[in-house]
Formats: sequence, C-alpha cells, structure tokens
Amino acid sequence: DISRTAERTGMRVYLIGGIVRDLFLERPNDDIDIVVEGNGIDFAEHLRTDYGGSVKMHETFGTASWIHPSGLYIDVTSARLEYYERPASLPDVELSTLSEDLYRRDFTINSMALCLNPEVFGDLVDPFNGQADLRSKTIKVLHNLSFIDDPTRILRAVRFETRFDFLMDKQTESLALNSMARMRDLSAHRIVEEMKRLFKDEDPPGTIKRLFKLTFWQQFGVDDGSAEQSYIHAGQLKMFYEIHKPPAGTKPRWFNYFAIPFFTSKKMYLMSQFSLTKRNNKFLQDIRNLSDMEGVEQIREPGEFHRFLKHYEDEAIIFMIAKENMENEDIITSYLKRRIDMPVFLTGEDLIQEGMKPGPHFRGILLELEVAVLNGEINTRDEAVAWLHE
Ligand code: ATP
Repeated sequence: DISRTAERTGMRVYLIGGIVRDLFLERPNDDIDIVVEGNGIDFAEHLRTDYGGSVKMHETFGTASWIHPSGLYIDVTSARLEYYERPASLPDVELSTLSEDLYRRDFTINSMALCLNPEVFGDLVDPFNGQADLRSKTIKVLHNLSFIDDPTRILRAVRFETRFDFLMDKQTESLALNSMARMRDLSAHRIVEEMKRLFKDEDPPGTIKRLFKLTFWQQFGVDDGSAEQSYIHAGQLKMFYEIHKPPAGTKPRWFNYFAIPFFTSKKMYLMSQFSLTKRNNKFLQDIRNLSDMEGVEQIREPGEFHRFLKHYEDEAIIFMIAKENMENEDIITSYLKRRIDMPVFLTGEDLIQEGMKPGPHFRGILLELEVAVLNGEINTRDEAVAWLHE
C-alpha cells in the first residue's frame, strides 16, 4: 500500500528504525515507523485517500499516524533533525533530510532505513554500518556526545543488550559510565518510563546487575555492595512467579524489581525521589511493615497466614517471602488464591442479629471466622452461624 502511494505522490518513503532492525533479526514488531522525504502529514493523508482508515496528527512534532483499516498503526514522520537546546530536555524539531534523521538516533542498529518506493524497493540506507553491528551483536552509539544529549539512551542500550543478548562495544560502555551522573538531570517521569520498559523485558535480574556495573543505582544513593544480593533477590522473585503462579499476575510488576536495590541497601526512603503512585507507596509501606516475618515459616494452614497477612497486598507478600525460600511457599500461594474470592458469610450486622452485643471484639470474631473459612472448616452460612454459637 505504502509503496504504491509513494509512487503516485512521487515522495521517497522509508521504513526506519526499530522495525528495520527487527526485520533483520526476524523478530516481531508492530511499531511501524516510516519516514518521508517531504511532508509526513500530507503523506499520511494520501494514504487515507488511497486506502481508507484514519489519520491522527501530532502537529507539534510534524508527524502523523495513519491507522490502517485493520487497526494497525503506522507512524509517519518527515525526515528531520532535532537540535538539543540543552542536554536532557526534549528536542526541537526542524525539517531536514533522511541521513540527518538517521544521525539523531541512538544506536547504529537502530539507524537503518529501507526504501519502499517500487523502483528501489528494499534498498538499505545504512550510513553507520548497523548491519555489521547486528551481525556482531554490538550496541554502538553514533557519536561521543550521544549519552550526554540524552542519558535515557544508556537505559535503552541496556534494554537492547538484555533483550537481544548483545553487548555495548568498549567505547560505548565507557561513554555510558562517564555520562551516568547525567541520569540525575532527568525528570522522575522519564526514568520511571524507562524502568517500566526495562523491567518488562526478558531478564530483570540481569538488568539489575548490569545497571549496578554501569553505576546507575549508585547515582540514586544505592550502595555499591548490594549488587549481588539484589541480583539474587530479583532471581528469586522471578522464580517464585514462574513456579507458583500467584494471583498477583504472571510476572512481578516493574516496580517490584525497581525497588529491590533500594530495599537491599535499606534505603527505601530514597525512592520518594521518583514521585511514586499511591499503589507503589502502599507497596513500599507494606514491605517495610512485613520486614519481621518471624514465625511465618512454621505455618501449615492457609488460614493461619491470614492472621499475619490480612492487611497486606499480594505483591508485597510475595516480594518478602520469595527471598526466604520457605518450605511452606505452596501453602502461602494457596492462601493468596483463596483469599481473593473468600465468601463473606457473616457481617457485624449479622452478629447483632444473632444477639451479640456490638463492640471491638467483633473484629476478632470476624477474623477468626475468616481464618476458619480459609482453612476450609466453614463452607456455608449455616455452618458459620453454628460456629458462632459454639
Ligand atoms: P521497542 O521495541 O522496545 O519499542 P524500539 O527501538 O523498536 O524499541 P522505540 O523506542 O519506539 O522502539 O524507538 C523507535 C526508534 O526511535 C528507535 O529504533 C530509535 O531509532 C529511535 N529512538 C527512540 N528513542 C530514542 C532516543 N532516546 N534517542 C535516539 N533515538 C531514539
């Protein structure tokens, strides 16, 4: 489709960036980016005229998305150059040519373009020899100021290393180390966005370890010495989810991994620098309060866990127990699964109806009832009422 519209309009059109890299690596990628030597917004409109679908404009960046009738998103940009007004800020946009567009990118493997015009279909534009780096599994910046221009690229480099099993070349790694202090100039929001992507990828423990080596955590006050223990904890957390499939989800959330180095070096208070959401704050508060897990190891019945853990979220409980390697992990998991849809047979109102005097002791009674329900000793409302009168 794009090819025919390119021919009709006489515009040069290229597939560019991550999608080209992934084509060569034979990896799936639904993020289709094309770049037009000319006006990208106009080209998106031409695509809609030719094939339907719809167009979404992003005027400030001079880009548009063409939404193919099948629902697929295709981002269209004009070949452009971005100037950095000051490091670590968002770029300004200027119209320019394809090679300049490629020059503003992060790594050689992401700086290739494939021409889509019929007469030269499939011609590769590869000014930095990204092909060779793909073959040698190397992440390489395009110039020495790349990480100074944008420190998030260091985190991107680590992401590609772990995802593809690539490595930075010596020069890139030493630039990353030298620019790491710049990470502190970034907004909390940008760091958080990168962390979400990093810890969604395949190897969170390896990522944590690599970030220690590059002194990422240390920039934010984490102790150098907690690297090994953080790596181990992350591995245990990952494993726990794989083995037990607890209800918290199929994988730990990114934030659980992100918290590990701070937790290991007993500096969770430092995480406030990342403007946390309510949910993440509750998680930190829970793991702080759960630090004393004494006695939990002896528990053999799901309901008994409830006495300790009723008020804590699943993910915080798992975060703490995963590193203990306890024999009763199965029972804890079955507790977590049962408490999700634990039936409520009696409420405070019911206790009054049954002739009991209201008071603070209600709470204890209802807790004992929940314990018995979780242990499978009470299965109906009638049994609950009978239990109450015993
Ligand atoms: P993923 O598959 O994780 O989405 P990606 O590289 O395919 O990674 P994006 O992060 O959307 O996808 O980036 C698309 C392209 O834009 C990259 O391939 C790269 O060329 C360029 N790019 C993205 N972020 C930066 C950056 N911070 N600096 C320079 N170029 C970037």
